[in-house]
Amino acid sequence: MTVGILGGGQLGYMLALAGYPLDFHFRFLDPSPQAPVGRIAPRVTAEYTDSEALDKFAHGLALVTYEFENVPVEAARHLARRLPVYPPPQALEAAQDRLNEKTLFQKLHIPSTEFAVVNSAGELGHAVRKLGLPAVLKTRRFGYDGKGQWVLRTREDVARLEEQFPDAPLILEKFMSFARELSVIAVRGRSGETAFYPLVENHHRGGILRLSLAPAPRLSAALQQQAELAARRILDALDYVGVLAVELFELDGHLFANEIAPRVHNSGHWSIEGAVTSQFESHLRAVAGLPLGETRMLGCAAMLNLIGELPEPSELLAMPDAHLHVYGKALRPGRKVGHVTVRASSPEQLRIRLAELPHFFQREEFCLSVLVPK
Ligand code: AMP
Repeated sequence: MTVGILGGGQLGYMLALAGYPLDFHFRFLDPSPQAPVGRIAPRVTAEYTDSEALDKFAHGLALVTYEFENVPVEAARHLARRLPVYPPPQALEAAQDRLNEKTLFQKLHIPSTEFAVVNSAGELGHAVRKLGLPAVLKTRRFGYDGKGQWVLRTREDVARLEEQFPDAPLILEKFMSFARELSVIAVRGRSGETAFYPLVENHHRGGILRLSLAPAPRLSAALQQQAELAARRILDALDYVGVLAVELFELDGHLFANEIAPRVHNSGHWSIEGAVTSQFESHLRAVAGLPLGETRMLGCAAMLNLIGELPEPSELLAMPDAHLHVYGKALRPGRKVGHVTVRASSPEQLRIRLAELPHFFQREEFCLSVLVPK
């Protein structure tokens, strides 16, 4: 079976790597001729809005999925008229606009941060009066890795934003002093069966994910249950097929949904070595109508993103149970170019292994001693 994937970045690359042993073939569509999947699969280089290219791309495919959430919904709908497209285009629509996302959370009674719509500089003051300071102003669309976001702490911050008002629809969110950030990776098959990975604790710097700990330290059954309940409601409401990530804030033992990603997710990369079935294989099994695999963990794991530069491999690979993934992208500051997963049989052993990682990982940018909780 040949699976078509919209988007040709590292997520698509890892989907293909998981799919080859299951006898899947892949074809990618991406506007960039430099898309990393080029080294392992045939790739159509075209804009997502080019319907002729989409038709050519779709020829002979069993189904289409995506690894990039900002694929125009119309492109997914266009393809869905010809062949199965999973997750369904309405999931893209819900995830691409923060207002749609928040409205979905409200409709499903999933706790989330309080917010107000801000369409003009004039509306900002009103929204700030409603929610108070500090607050976070976010573009409704196309925000990623902390881009398109402004934290407003003072009246001066508000006045500055009013003067240089971004030319985009926005929402203002109440700033949440959460205890930590978590995410749950969920999967739903074609017949509605579901599976969930353990909650993961995520640490960001400069708006970019640096480290995920799986399972999240001090994870209680009640917290996991809360996350699964929220994820299941979203999966069912969207008649979802495939892997979905739900990003959450934890405050006083309660979870608040921040956003969803209708695709495999950076905070699930640990599952390649750390779970019986990786998130990539789970996604492919789901969209292809195969039985979902076990999501059980194999020990515990830490995933460290490699941002803009790569470590010297031999020192890292000399360590027990350390795994290097390089995406084949040009090295540029702020760009995710690979990741490392360290696995261990217990949280204590994991902490020891992380402390013994080469100097590269102990530098300021990583600051493992700060990031890894005791
Ligand atoms: P997002 O693009 O919504 O995932 O936001 C990026 C990061 O900004 C999150 O991972 C949080 O660390 C932080 N953030 C987003 N929304 C809020 C909020 N309402 N309160 C506090 N921090 C936030």
